[in-house]
This record gives sequence, structure tokens and C-alpha cells, in this order.
Amino acid sequence: METDVLIIGGGVIGSCIARQLCRYHLDITLVEKQSDVCMGTSKANSSMVHDGYNIDGHKLKGRLCLEANTMYEKMCRELNVDYRPATGSIFAGFTEDHLAIMKQQLENSKTNGLSGLYIANHDQMMALEPNISREVQYGLVNPNTGTINPFDLTMALAENAVMNGVKVFLETEVTNIHTRKGKIESVETNIGRFKPKVIINAAGLYSDKIAGMVEKVDGYIHPRKGSYFLYDKKWGDHVKHCIYSPPTPVSKGMIMVPTTEGNILAGSNAVEVNDREDFATVGAEMDEIYSHTIHRLFPKMPRMGEVITAFAGLRAASNTEDFIIGHAKTVPAMINLIGIQSPGLSSAPAIARMAEELVRETGEDLDFSERPDYNPNRPAPVILRNMDPETRSALIQKNPDYGSIVCRCETISKGEILDAIRRPIPARNLDAIKRRTRAGMGRCQGGFCGPRVVGILEEELGITPLNITKRGGRSNILLDKTKDLSLLEGGANSEKIQL
Ligand SMILES: Cc1cc2nc3c(=O)[nH]c(=O)nc-3n(C[C@H](O)[C@H](O)[C@H](O)COP(=O)(O)OP(=O)(O)OC[C@H]3O[C@@H](n4cnc5c(N)ncnc54)[C@H](O)[C@@H]3O)c2cc1C
Repeated sequence: METDVLIIGGGVIGSCIARQLCRYHLDITLVEKQSDVCMGTSKANSSMVHDGYNIDGHKLKGRLCLEANTMYEKMCRELNVDYRPATGSIFAGFTEDHLAIMKQQLENSKTNGLSGLYIANHDQMMALEPNISREVQYGLVNPNTGTINPFDLTMALAENAVMNGVKVFLETEVTNIHTRKGKIESVETNIGRFKPKVIINAAGLYSDKIAGMVEKVDGYIHPRKGSYFLYDKKWGDHVKHCIYSPPTPVSKGMIMVPTTEGNILAGSNAVEVNDREDFATVGAEMDEIYSHTIHRLFPKMPRMGEVITAFAGLRAASNTEDFIIGHAKTVPAMINLIGIQSPGLSSAPAIARMAEELVRETGEDLDFSERPDYNPNRPAPVILRNMDPETRSALIQKNPDYGSIVCRCETISKGEILDAIRRPIPARNLDAIKRRTRAGMGRCQGGFCGPRVVGILEEELGITPLNITKRGGRSNILLDKTKDLSLLEGGANSEKIQL
């Protein structure tokens, strides 16, 4: 298939680039190897929109993070994404050494052109965070740290791109790239060949491998795992700001984040791993997160019982510890984005703008005139739990599916699940429904609503429940019919043993 621009990777970066470019008369294709967008690092992070106060503004990641600050609000307004720019963060300190680091970071924030930060004393800290440990002596308060739901953002970016003509191919893995005399010939995938004029490599943890399909690359990824606890919404009010514990040599310090949905996210540590698919949460590491950060900062928060899930994400750390963004050396029409670790989520709109500049520089025959029908807005999805009672009952009157609650923990209706299946990038499995609606993200983690969501998918897609998966591929929810059912139907499985 011929296309102007082929974007590899449907994380926040690939999706943001697709949206950035879809305003022009360009034919754009995005390929994602997994069964949905936002299944890589973009789904497992601290969900903070950093303003760049503690970052080296001379590094590319510092420059882009600072630049993106000015773009975030408009982007989220257009996309109807819940962005909380003023959640605020506090680096909590216990010792004079921590105070010294705070003073350096405060100076750094000024160098980066930021204002509003200050160092709070013990009493001010107790007023700002009534539940924090009495041992906390100081706090570097930054009112400009934001929070966002990274699935919502990535999904909204990708959906808006699709609304503006971008073609998205899921379960489509790039396996090789053919070039000749510095030009792209074709891109091989598991579903066939693409012939793009320009390739944008936004493949996250695999971006060095994709770059290596074209030439020997200097940049490489060494994955660094970060694990999290997610606390029940009951604890949502216990922590008011994003609270950093004191830093370590490899991390900015771990963090407690009050999420936009009202949970508390606590993590993440930083552990170098060899396997790019190692998402295991390890007991000893979780203990360290609990004792180093959660218990030390908020002693009343329990280790067990109130944690509804634990998960890990992998940072695509590069050998330079900076973003490596640019043309491939021997193939100018190939643009690599390697090492997009934190603050990649925060920097996404500025990274996308930089990617556009690089596409323009390729010299390929591309039409950069603006499309008159370009629409930067994505309609807000129906979110029943956020509605006032009158609006909610008016909606239910019009469509009773919104009155049928499927996920009790998060108050998600059948209507919202059907919407997710019918959205511009349709949800086709349980996790895809979960990312779009939160059905299964509550305290019971899908124990109650899971079977009902399977039923709705079955009904709406007209497929057997045996083909419904958790997250695509071979993650089938049901393996076989029970002996009783098969016998009743007299089918081929009638002799199989119940699983
Ligand atoms: C623990 C942790 C905490 C973080 N906290 C923050 C934070 O608070 N704030 C912040 O700004 N940033 C944070 N980050 C960083 C941020 O999450 C990342 O920078 C960002 O999500 C990177 O997005 P991406 O699109 O580059 O990667 P991804 O989301 O990983 O997307 C890449 C996509 O490429 C696909 N892909 C790979 N290979 C192929 C192939 N061969 N063919 C087709 N598709 C392919 C993958 O399946 C994947 O979906 C954190 C990261 C981690 C791990």
C-alpha cells in the first residue's frame, strides 16, 4: 500500500504525530503491532505532566518539555481530555541534604524560566498535606505540575487523527525496512508491504531495533522498569498533591500521585532489565516502594488490602539518557524517535511539532497545504458518572442503555461500553473497553463486569465468546465450552473434558 507518511507505533508519541500531520493534505498511515493503541509505555506511567522544573533545559528532553508546557492546555481542550494543570507537586524532604537539593532545583526552575515554586517549612507542609508524616521538614512546592489520564490522551489523539483521515492498522508489526541508495523502498509487516515516502519511527522500547533495520545506529535502548501500587478511591483524598520522595541516583524520587480518576498511584522505582517485555511486579521491589515512599511519606496508608492492583512500565532509556530525535544518517526520509522516556508524555505535543519539521526537511514530494475540513476537536465521550442527575436522567430517557450499569465499581453503563465499541478506533477486547471506559478498573478489577462486557462484545460484534480476548492475540477469555454445554449442542467438543 502506498502512503505519504508511515508512523510506526501507536503510543502517545505516534498518535500525537499522526494528529499533528493530519491537518495537511498528506496520506498518513499508523501501524501498531498490538491490538489497540496505547498498549506500550504510554499506558503505564506516573501520568504527570511535568513543567520541567528539575530538568536540564539544555538537553533535548528539557527543551521539548518546556516547549510543550505552552501547548498542553489547548491540545486537551480541543480533545476533551481531562487535564489538571494545577494538581501541583511537592518534593518532600526530611534532612538538610534534601533541603540543599531543593535549593538547587529551585534555582534550576528559574534558569528554565519557570515561576511560582517555593520551599515550604514544616508547618506549611502540614497545612498543604495534612496526612503526611510529621517527620517531613521541608517541601519544594511546584504549583505547575499537572496530571492527566494517559490512556484518555493517547486515545483522543489517535481518534482525532482517524477522524481527520489517518488510517490505523492494529496488530500490524513492522518486520523489516528496505531501502536503496538512501531512499525508502518498502516496509514489510505481518499483513503485507507498505510503500511510504517518509517513515516515522515512534516504536518506543523497540525504536532502536526499527532504526537498526535501516542502518547501524548509535542510539540504543536499555529498558528501565518502574512498578506501581494503585490504591482504592477510598484513599483519593489522603494525598492532595503529587508528592516526591527524596531522589536517588537513577530516579527523580518516587512519587505518590492523586490521579484524575481519584485513585492514588504510588511508585515507581527504577530497575534496569534486559527483557523488553518484563512487566513483572516483584515482591522485594514492591516492598521497597512501600517502605521508601508510601509508608515513609504517608504512614497511615496500608501495604495490603487497599491496593487494587500493581503494575509495571518500562522506560525506553537511551544510552545518552536524552531523547534522540532526527533523520536516519543514510536515509533522510526515515525519522527516528529513540529514547523517549520521561518526560515523554509531557513533551508529546512539542515532539510532534519537531517531527513535523523533520518531515518537511526530508525534501520528499509532500503537500503541506492545510486541509479545509481539518477538525482539531474530538467530541467528548459520554461519561455517566460525571453528569449531574438531571442530564443523566434525560440521557437515560433517550437511550435506556445508559441506565443499565455494567461496572458497579466505576458506574459504567452498557451505553458507554457500546459507545467504546463504536468509536473511531473501535474497542474489540476487554482491555480496550477498560482503557476507554474504565469498566474493570475499579476495586473488583473486572470480577463483576468482565462476563457482562464479554456478553456485550459478543452481541455487538456478532462473534462467539470463545473469540473474545482480554488484550488481543491469544489472550482468549474462554478456552472452550464446558462439557455440559457441548453435549447439549451435540457439537464437536462434546467429548472434551470441562476446563
Ligand atoms: C515508569 C514510568 C513512569 C513515567 N512517568 C512519566 C510521567 O509522569 N510523565 C511523563 O511525561 N512521562 C512519563 N514517562 C514516560 C512516558 O510514559 C513515555 O515517554 C511515553 O509514554 C512514550 O511514548 P511512546 O509513544 O514513545 O512509546 P509507547 O507508548 O511504548 O508506544 C510505542 C508503540 O510502538 C509499538 N511498536 C513497537 N514495535 C513495533 C513494530 N515493530 N511494529 C509496529 N508497532 C510497534 C508498541 O507496541 C507501542 O505501542 C514514564 C515512563 C515510565 C515507564
